[in-house]
Amino acid sequence: MANPFAYDPGRRVVRIATVFGVPLGVQGFNWLPANEVIAWGIFTWLSMRKRPAWAAWRHGLLGGLKMAVVLGSEWCHNLAHAVAARCVGRPVDAMRILFGMPVLLYNEPEHPSITPHQHILRSAAGPACNALLLAVSLLLKRFTHADSPAREVADAAAVMNTFLTTGSLLPVPVFDGGPILKWSLVLGGVVPGRTQAITERVNLGVGGALAAASAVTAARRHWLAAGILAALGLLAVAAGLGKLRDL
Ligand SMILES: [Zn+2]
Repeated sequence: MANPFAYDPGRRVVRIATVFGVPLGVQGFNWLPANEVIAWGIFTWLSMRKRPAWAAWRHGLLGGLKMAVVLGSEWCHNLAHAVAARCVGRPVDAMRILFGMPVLLYNEPEHPSITPHQHILRSAAGPACNALLLAVSLLLKRFTHADSPAREVADAAAVMNTFLTTGSLLPVPVFDGGPILKWSLVLGGVVPGRTQAITERVNLGVGGALAAASAVTAARRHWLAAGILAALGLLAVAAGLGKLRDL
């Protein structure tokens, strides 16, 4: 499957920086930070609902801080992949900004010369970074007062990093857990041709578990969490049915 986020080869790429040896670029107008604007707007609106007596600038500041820790966690996740890929000698070929968020591009992600250890280390770096940020967020929660704006920022960071740590480890091929499982199987002696069948069975099991978790969460009326669990479950089932392959 071709990477749907890859640059259009027929259009000019504008290189804006080099980050950990990786060219950071944009193409066309889709670099516009739509994710940042939307997240800032939502968090500011939530703040206005919760503290109507506040001045507008305080809502904007709190909304901006929550947006920064939430989307910054995803940026850190991708930068950690880039650092690990460089450290193991199989660097990322490019990093693209799409609607304000980073996308890592590998020309040949499955090149036969890449060892299982290299695959696993560069995939595991993203979730490991978020686990570290989660620990920092939980520490910050301890040093902030309940119901304070600082606690809200720490809570937002904790929720996002919990989501990124666990969600990215799902064994879906397009997530980090997919390659980690596949190359761990190869390291364990499974011949590469057999890994697909095993990961598909694992994904069907994970998809079923996520569907059940979604149903339980919906019964408790946590609609956002139920929707996210259902979407992840659908992805896992699609992977289990062989509909998703490595990007
Ligand atoms: Zn990742």
